[in-house]
Amino acid sequence: MLPSLFISHGSPMLALQPGASGPALERLAGALPRPKAIVVMSAHWESHELLVSGSPAPETWHDFGGFPRELFAVQYPAPGNPALARQIIELLAADGLEPRLDNQRPFDHGTWVPLSLMYPAADIPVVQVSLPSHMGPALQTRIGQALGSLRTEGVLLIGSGSITHNLGELDWRAGPESIEPWAREFRDWVVDKLSTQDEAALHDYRQQAPYAVRSHPSDEHLLPLYFARGAGGQFSVAHQGFTLGALGMDIYRFD
Ligand code: ZN
Repeated sequence: MLPSLFISHGSPMLALQPGASGPALERLAGALPRPKAIVVMSAHWESHELLVSGSPAPETWHDFGGFPRELFAVQYPAPGNPALARQIIELLAADGLEPRLDNQRPFDHGTWVPLSLMYPAADIPVVQVSLPSHMGPALQTRIGQALGSLRTEGVLLIGSGSITHNLGELDWRAGPESIEPWAREFRDWVVDKLSTQDEAALHDYRQQAPYAVRSHPSDEHLLPLYFARGAGGQFSVAHQGFTLGALGMDIYRFD
């Protein structure tokens, strides 16, 4: 059975400059059975309603500005999977949620950047589930739990965000060895609570974790972690690191 994954997707430039994350994502993909399909909850699809992407051929959306032209040329032409999207709608509805199909949604960079490093052939269908971020951690856990059974059907479930995400405190000249202590302390707290399965503390992280608000001034980049955790089982760390001084690049799996 496939695990579910939490992936810190870093800056969009990761697609061109994969650093240590590229080999880690490549190794991880190589160690897993080949998925029949991939479902991603990305930090870059915040929505009020719960939406599921239903397009058979989603476009690659360069949903950012100020990056080099070659980044805008990167395409990730993986197909969608309308049948799986309908199955996801049914699973979520069976859990009492009120999901809706979105047939226009393209792949945002939270989806295509990590997948371009894991599955560069772009030949595995991908469906996106939106992030109702205003509902906080508990709902994302519930969405993950509602979809966890897909893992037994060869579907890889991914939460794509960032273990720390304060863009105002990044140092664009910092090397991988230079890590802000507050960012590390927050990351270590999350890892500890994941290891001890302390869901109550994880759901209340904004009150309980050290430097929670500094690490996530808004928490849309952390919330996909709850989706991944809800969808999977035993926690383990697949990769750890920081870039730009304070941008966490951790990758976790839930088997
Ligand atoms: Zn992002």
